[in-house]
Parts: sequence; C-alpha cells; structure tokens
Amino acid sequence: MDPAAAPRRPVGGTGPAPVTAGPTEADWDAAVAAVRRLAPEGRVLLICHVNPDGDALGSMLGFGLGLRRLGVRRLQATFPGPPEVPEPFRELPGLELLVPATEAEPEPDLVICFDAASESRLGALADRLSGTGVALVLDHHASNTGFGDVNLVDPVAAATSVVAEELLARLDVPLDAGIAECLYVALSTDTGSFRFDATTPAVHEMAARLLATGIRPGDISRRVFDSRPFGAVRLFGEVLGRARLEPAAAGGHGLVWTYATLDDLARHDQRPYVLEALIDPVRCTAEADVSCVVKQTGPAEWAVSLRSKGAVDVARVADALGGGGHRLAAGFTGRGTVDEVVERIRVELSAPAPDGGVARQG
Ligand code: 5GP
Ligand code: MN
Repeated sequence: MDPAAAPRRPVGGTGPAPVTAGPTEADWDAAVAAVRRLAPEGRVLLICHVNPDGDALGSMLGFGLGLRRLGVRRLQATFPGPPEVPEPFRELPGLELLVPATEAEPEPDLVICFDAASESRLGALADRLSGTGVALVLDHHASNTGFGDVNLVDPVAAATSVVAEELLARLDVPLDAGIAECLYVALSTDTGSFRFDATTPAVHEMAARLLATGIRPGDISRRVFDSRPFGAVRLFGEVLGRARLEPAAAGGHGLVWTYATLDDLARHDQRPYVLEALIDPVRCTAEADVSCVVKQTGPAEWAVSLRSKGAVDVARVADALGGGGHRLAAGFTGRGTVDEVVERIRVELSAPAPDGGVARQG
C-alpha cells in the first residue's frame, strides 16, 4: 500500500498512531471475531517481514498451524523478497504453508501480519492491506504504526510469538508440538536464548507451556543457534578480523563495527542470511556499548544491524536513518559506501538525544 494513502479505519480501538499500550480487550475481541467470522472457504494470507528472523517465521507458522487446527483450509504464509528460508529455520513445522510472494493470494479475506512494525517491512505484499479483506497486525514493536484494521501490538511482549500464543488461546486452539516448536523458536531467538532483559517470568512461563508439549529444546537450539557451514565459520573469522573499536564514539560509550560485502559471501560460497548471526560475536566487545554490522545487499546498499547494551537507544539512531526497531536492537537500510554509512551512524550516535543526553542515556 502506498504509505501516503489514508490510514485504514481501525475496527478494534487502536488507531493508526504509534502504539504505546498493549492491546485492549476490544482489540482482542475484534481479532477473535475476525478469525471466527471467516467463511469455510475464506482465504487467509499470513505475511511476515522481509528477511524473516526466528520470531517472524516462528510466530507466523505457529499461528498458521493453529488456524489449520481451527479448520481454515485456504491458508498461505509468505514474506517479501526471495522465497528462501534461512538454514536455521528449514526444519520448522508448518513450512508447507509457505508460498513465494509472487504466488500469494491477491484478494485474501483476512490478512495477518507478523513482527512487522510498518507496511514498509512487507515490501510489495503491503498492497494486500488495501484490499477488501480485514487486516490484522500482530507485533511487539513500540514503533508500530498501527497499520491494520485490528492491531494486536504489545510493546512489552518479548516476541511477536507472545501475542500469537495469546490469540491462539483466546481462539481455544490447544498447543500441540508443531505449534509449540514454532513459537519456541520465535521466543528463544527474540530473547537471545532467554538472556535479554525481556526475559520476564511470563516468558519462562510461556516457555514452560511450550516445552510441556514434548518439544526438544536441545535439538531446536542446536539447529537454530549452534550450527553453520564451515564456509560461514571462515567468513566470520575474516569479517571479525576487520572489526573496528571506536571507544570515543557514542559520547564515550564506545562503538564496535564491522562489515561484510557480497564479494566476501561469494568467496566463501555463503548465502546472505548466514550474516544474521554475525552481530553476536561483535557485540561481545566489552569496550563498546553500541555494536554494528553493515551487510552489503546491493552495489551501494547495506542492511545495518545495531545493538546496544543499554546506555544508548539504537532505535532512535535507526529511526533517524530511515529504519526502526527496539531500544537495544534496531536496523536500517544504508546507502553509499561502508564509510559513508558508518559515518552517518557516528553522527547520529553523537547527536543530542531528546532528553538532552547523548543518544538518550538509558
Ligand atoms: P536485525 O539487526 O536483527 O536485522 O534487526 C534488529 C531489529 O531492528 C529488528 O527486530 C527490526 O525491528 C529492526 N530493523 C532491522 N532492520 C530494519 C529496517 O530496515 N527497517 C526497520 N523499520 N526496522 C528494522
Ligand atoms: Mn520480533
């Protein structure tokens, strides 16, 4: 949908303004009603964000398996861009629901979006929001623009899968092992294996409910976190070897960054998604609050990942550079050379934050 087009009329109480509180009872009721209202032959299209991560795919496929249990037959799941599922997620239950974006139902009766903070994260599939069907948004980004007819956006939720589990419960869909594995992958990836501050008692309680279905956390975690081709191990070595530490950046909180080019990928015969995990060894750097990986996606185009340990709000930085995300994990699309992209980040990191501190002290 054209981002400039008029916002859709909200059905469930939340409007097109950025969401600050979690869903209201009216929102949940509207979401349940939108699913229950589906005719037996109703067409449902599930969409998650471009370059899908564990939460995007896991919450979408887990919810899709739940809809199937409800008897929804005409059901597709998709995401914009090349229809390639990253290796760590190639054994997720429910993958059979996936279709390439080019084959996605053009006129769905119900569209459900997962883990996307704005229409722009849906690429060309955003046009499905302007059809006659109902658009339901499940997300946990505080920056979510409320672009659905019904918006279930909980900025406090550790993952979109938390919202998905709640909606399944309200639809009386029992958790089975397939649904649980999808939601567990989503929950464990977005909490960094239950290490981030978002890991609340409620997160562990949800994990307990998922594990109670009999899923194997050891096998799942090895596949998702601890397995990569040898070529990727070598590629990581090379890219980590060129990491730069800038202790004075971010008002003295420090910045560590590195970059990977398409040529690096080609030399090691690796696919772009292997670079998603690269931020983890980079952000280990004790001397820097902010970490950054700049990943080439085109001749002068880069996918930028930013992380903070808490002193700096990287969502503000990403937002200022045309992207978005969370306070401690954000990203944007950078254009130009690596040096130009990193220089823009340095400038934003040293810009006075709204509260008068440097890049909003946490
Ligand atoms: P990652 O570094 O893992 O790709 O992304 C971290 C977070 O930043 C994601 O959860 C997402 O919220 C946000 N993010 C990453 N890239 C973009 C982007 O290009 N645009 C927007 N709006 N958000 C992004
Ligand atoms: Mn998420």
